[in-house]
Amino acid sequence: MFVGHYGVGFAAKAVKKTIPLWQLFIAVQLVDIAWATLVLFGVEKFRIVPGITAASPLDLYYIPYTHSLLAVVIWSLAAMVIYRFAVKRSTWLVAGVIAVTVLSHWLLDLLVHRPDLPLYDNHMKVGLGLWNYPVLSFALEALCLFGGMFFYYRATQPVGGRGRYAMIVFGLVMLGVQSTALFSPPPPSANAVAVMALVSYFLFAAVVYWLEKKRA
Ligand SMILES: [Zn+2]
Repeated sequence: MFVGHYGVGFAAKAVKKTIPLWQLFIAVQLVDIAWATLVLFGVEKFRIVPGITAASPLDLYYIPYTHSLLAVVIWSLAAMVIYRFAVKRSTWLVAGVIAVTVLSHWLLDLLVHRPDLPLYDNHMKVGLGLWNYPVLSFALEALCLFGGMFFYYRATQPVGGRGRYAMIVFGLVMLGVQSTALFSPPPPSANAVAVMALVSYFLFAAVVYWLEKKRA
């Protein structure tokens, strides 16, 4: 899953309004940021196999440190503890919300991935495979994204005219980015995918940092 993860970030913002949205954007993609980084360092591995699922050509055959269930639980707990002590005025409750948003990544990935998500290390792989149904998986991403945004809109007020629609437009742009990946030819290399993923994660977090000022 790609942009659907951000729906959890928006919903978490509605639950705990003191957490900046850009931090939640990083939290929901934390294990993917780690994944792309470890791929560039040659620690985790995948290859591009066009057609391996209808919507994604990634054969993620070695992702134990970022996408095994055990690893994601550890990432969530680590994020919770680091957030509690590194971020001023945070509480265990706020840090717990961060932990849940980090963990949510694996649960949403479980819906769309083919059985390539290990339960621990590189063993016992699971995945419900919705990526084999491009329209359905795309609809699910859109539903997650805008479902989460709905709660965010209910919990916040626009500041000025742009605050009314800016986030919705941003959501549509993110969905647009995702759909271009569906229709463009397979990416040239695994490293290119990792770089593009990292750029989009940080770009989206930067844009939301700026857009968040338009709602309070
Ligand atoms: Zn992932």
